[in-house]
Parts: sequence; C-alpha cells; structure tokens
Amino acid sequence: MPTYTAPVKDMQFLLHEVLNATATGIPGYDELEPDFTAAILEEAGKLAEGVLAPLNAVGDTEGCRLENGVVYTPTGFKDAFAQIKEGGWNGLDLPEEFGGQNLPYVLATGVGELFVSSNMAFNMYQGLTHGAINAILAAGSDAQKTTYLPKMTSLEWTGTMNLTEPHCGTDLGLIRTKAEPQDDGSYKITGQKIFISAGDHDMSENVIHLVLAKAPGGGEGTKGISLFIVPKFIVKDDGSLGDRNGVSVGKIEEKMGIHGNATCVMNYDGATGYLVGDLHKGMRAMFVMMNEARLGVGLQGYAQAEIAYQNALAYAKDRLQGRAVTGTENPGGNADPLIVHPDIRRMLMDQKSFVEGARAFTLWGAHLIDRAHRLDDSQAEGLISLLTPVIKGFLTDKGFDMTIQAQQVYGGHGYIEEWGMSQYARDARIAMIYEGANGVQALDLVGRKLAAEGGKPAMAFFELIKGFLKENAENEALKDGYLEPLKAASKDLQTAMMFFMENGMKNPNAALAGSTDFMHMFGHVCLGYMWALMAKASDAALKAGASDATFHETKLKTGRYYMARQLPATGMHLARIQSGAEPVMALDAEAF
Ligand SMILES: Cc1cc2nc3c(=O)[nH]c(=O)nc-3n(C[C@H](O)[C@H](O)[C@H](O)COP(=O)(O)OP(=O)(O)OC[C@H]3O[C@@H](n4cnc5c(N)ncnc54)[C@H](O)[C@@H]3O)c2cc1C
Repeated sequence: MPTYTAPVKDMQFLLHEVLNATATGIPGYDELEPDFTAAILEEAGKLAEGVLAPLNAVGDTEGCRLENGVVYTPTGFKDAFAQIKEGGWNGLDLPEEFGGQNLPYVLATGVGELFVSSNMAFNMYQGLTHGAINAILAAGSDAQKTTYLPKMTSLEWTGTMNLTEPHCGTDLGLIRTKAEPQDDGSYKITGQKIFISAGDHDMSENVIHLVLAKAPGGGEGTKGISLFIVPKFIVKDDGSLGDRNGVSVGKIEEKMGIHGNATCVMNYDGATGYLVGDLHKGMRAMFVMMNEARLGVGLQGYAQAEIAYQNALAYAKDRLQGRAVTGTENPGGNADPLIVHPDIRRMLMDQKSFVEGARAFTLWGAHLIDRAHRLDDSQAEGLISLLTPVIKGFLTDKGFDMTIQAQQVYGGHGYIEEWGMSQYARDARIAMIYEGANGVQALDLVGRKLAAEGGKPAMAFFELIKGFLKENAENEALKDGYLEPLKAASKDLQTAMMFFMENGMKNPNAALAGSTDFMHMFGHVCLGYMWALMAKASDAALKAGASDATFHETKLKTGRYYMARQLPATGMHLARIQSGAEPVMALDAEAF
C-alpha cells in the first residue's frame, strides 16, 4: 500500500526562511506567522494523509460511472468532499464577502499541494470550481457574483471550464458552440464540449458550467468568442434551485489516469446561459485567471512526483537486493537494501532535488501572484506572466519523468498496479496535456512572453540572478558548488535568447524549433536559482545554530546535487537551440 506524509516542514522552511513571508510587506502576509501556517498546513496534512490518500487507489480502480444521466463518483468521495466543505478549505484564499477567508494565495498553494499529492483526481472537483470562481470574480457582474460565488466558495455548488470541442482544443478560434440572444437578456447555448473535467457528479447540489461559445456578430476566430454561465439547475431569484437546464452528460471518457475525476462529454441543447463580462470578449475573461490555473497544473506535476518519490524512497530502504560494492552494509540480512546502490541513489537524488526545487519555484510563483494582486505590483505581474508557461510546462514534463524514475526504483513491482506507482505516472501524464499542451506553453514563452513589454520581464529575471550572484559572491557556502553553475546556466539562457532575437525574425521556425528546449532551460535556471536561495537560507540557519541542523545540511547537499547533475542540462539545450530549424524541418512531410 502506498503511503503519504505531508511535507509540512519543507513548506515552513520555504515560507519563513526562504520567502520570509511576514517581512514582505504584502497585505495579508503579516498573518502568516510560523505557528499559524504550521497549524493550517498540519490540519490540511491530516486530511490529505488520513482521508484523501486512502481514497486515491479506490478512485483509480472504481472510476466514475454514468447511470440514467447521473454521474456517480467512487466510494468514499462524497464523505471526503463533505469534509473538505466543512473545513472551508476551498475558500482559504477567496474573498471574505463571498464566504472565503482572504488568506494569501501562497498558503492556499501549499495546502493545494497536499491535497493534489494525496489524491489528484479528487482534488480536481475543487480545483475546477476554484478556476470557475476566479473567472466570475474577474469578469462577472455584481449580481452574478452574489448569486454564484457564496455557494461555489462553500462547495455547495461546483464549477467547470468548457473550452474544448471535438474538432478544437488548442485552436479555440474554431469553436462551433452557438449562443443565441433571447429577449430577456439570456442566451440559448447549443453545441458539444468534450473532455470536461468534473463535468458532473453526485457531490454537490448544482454545477455551474463556464462555457465558451460564439454569439452573432463577433466575427471569425477567437475574437467572436464570449463566455457564459450555464448552471445545471437554473437558479431562481431567491437563490433556490429551479428547473433542470438543457445541459446533459453524453458520456464519461475512458482514459489513462485520473479515473476518480469524471471527464465528461457535455451536450448543450438550447441551454440557458448568462453572458459573463463583455460580448465577444470571452477569451480575455477566461485568460485573466490563466496564471493561477496554469500554476495549479504545474503543481500537479511535482505533487505527483512528491508522492511517487516518498514511496520509492521507502521501497529503496526496505527491498534487499545485491550487495554494496564498497562492502556489506546489512550484515544481518542476505542482501543490502537497494538504497546502497549508486544508480538507485542517482534516481532518488534526481527526484528529491527536483521536487524540493519545484516546490520552491511554485511557492515563489504564488508569492509573485500575491504581490501582483495585493500590491498592484506591475513588475511582479510581468515576471509571473513570463514564468507561468515555465511553471506549467517544465514542472509537468519533469514531474512526469520523476514518477517514471520512482517507478523504476521498484523494478518490475513498479509496473504492477498493486504497488500504486503506475497510478502516479498515469495521473501525472495529463498535466502535460491539458490547460494548454506543453508544446504550446513553450510557444507562448518564446513567441509572446519573451518579447512582452519590450522584454522588460525577461530582463528583470536576469537582473534578479545577476543581483543574487553579486550580493553573495563572498558567501563561502554558495561558492561551494552553487554560484558558478548558476552563472553558467544563466549565461546559456541569455545566449539562447540572443539566438532567438538574431534569427527568429528572419526565420520564425528557428525560434519555434527550439521552444521546448528553451522552456526546459528556463526551468532549470529557475530551479537552480531556487536552490541557491534555499542554500543561502540553510547556511544562515546553520550559522545561527539551528536546532534542525540535519535538515539544513541535507538541503545544502541536495542543492549541490542539482547544481552539479541537473543544471548542466542547459548546455545541451543551448546546443540544440543553436542548431536552428534545419535539422528539425529537414524532411518533407512525405518523407516521414
Ligand atoms: C483528461 C482531460 C481533461 C481535460 N479537461 C478539460 C476541461 O476541463 N475543460 C476543457 O475545456 N478542456 C479540457 N481538456 C482538453 C485539453 O485542454 C485539450 O486536450 C488540450 O488543450 C489540447 O487540445 P487537443 O486535445 O485538441 O489537441 P490539439 O490542439 O489537436 O493539439 C495536438 C498537439 O499539437 C500541438 N499543437 C497544436 N497547435 C500547435 C501549434 N500551433 N504549434 C505547435 N504545436 C501545436 C499540441 O501541443 C499537441 O501536442 C481535458 C483533456 C483531457 C484529456
């Protein structure tokens, strides 16, 4: 049976010793005293360990079922959902006026990791609701906010996001779902959406669908798209539920993972919908909340790697196989545990150094979102906008790789469902695809984000690294394996950027052929920077005589591993980028 332990200590380290939360001056961060955040994270951890983790395999094996138009979730999901509701977990970072607690997003992100690691499919019912709430907050009218947000915050009602149609996913300009205006100001929505996460289920009284559709007069492509609220049950003026709307589940998709989440084909047959925001400006409304939604998916990538790593580590300590080449380490047994072998160590160190770096990167990203929203800080807004495709694309690509590494530690047992390792890899796989497939994240990074605001956010990022290197040039702990690799990797990244600037205009394919390499390169530099920040904090803690010396010494050693063994990947990515479009585009389509 796989197990899970909430990494509260590591999150506390990041919040208080790396991000120095209470000293940031961000409104609301003064509440984030260590005792307070520990209490919240520990409480969430208990729920994750005791309630959600035991249901993870149940959801995987049972899946969801559609019977007579009703979607049923796996055994135990309803009770667990009631506990999430009762605890008010969904409203942690949502506005108080709608029943939330208005706590910083950075704390909600920490809690989110615990819920996603322990049961990704289950957490998506809440996660999609959060996304829908953010879209209504960003673009909805006051009346819509009052009608929908309190019940969605409390999870009495859940939410969905309906973009994808059978013939279009990435290219949403092709959407065919129609919205016809009615005399009372509402719209009749007709069309089919596919792959809709948490599309329907038996855990809430109502489901509020946010649907992209085309209303007359908007023109071709994405410009003609508007956003609509389409409730499963019409909400009456007094807030009570009225008639069933013209929306139904066509089927539940059979899929590779996240079986506990109902991925639905949704049929809209003249369903009543209400316009959100301005007509024909639906894409803008939807994309306002994109940074958060994509950060949430990036988090799924490393959160699955975290639970896979925890179990691989336990297995490597327990499974006896072969002897250490340097001499027996388990004389009482007939073999040594797997963990004595350097190649097993390599896999565990890859996983550990990735997950801890990714956690730091994600919490730093969440803190930038708080800074942008709560301080109206345009520099933070620019930076998080630049980093969002990196968080989404890099952390999900690598997160998936790490679940495979964890599976590898188990040998053949990793391939057998009973051990649970296959589920982590299968569940993690989707995060590379939805919320904008990773190839498209890389295009967004290279094609739009690098040049945004005349390249200001990209320059600000390099200034951050340069400033850090300069400020810490004399720090002996950082000189030992941190500063030089970070400097070299950052230089590789800048060289790649120059290559795009010099060649991209002449031949756009030269930039696009290297976009995924660039996204990975950027991700490595970000994790290298995070490891340097963590090393600095741990070194300071050790010098101040911290009681948890082992934790900090381990941090310093793990970071050195990342700098020595992972960060040099930027050199390979740079070489690929500099080879340009030619090797990639050399074959005619017919020659494949
Ligand atoms: C389990 C699951 C849950 C989902 N949940 C939701 C949901 O809740 N709501 C929702 O609306 N959708 C949802 N989706 C849909 C998901 O967001 C899309 O599948 C995804 O955006 C990709 O679209 P597509 O499948 O049509 O692929 P396509 O757009 O056909 O893309 C195919 C491939 O081509 C690449 N590609 C496309 N265009 C370009 C380009 N211009 N340049 C380079 N490469 C390109 C893509 O990166 C991808 O690798 C879900 C999907 C799944 C499988």
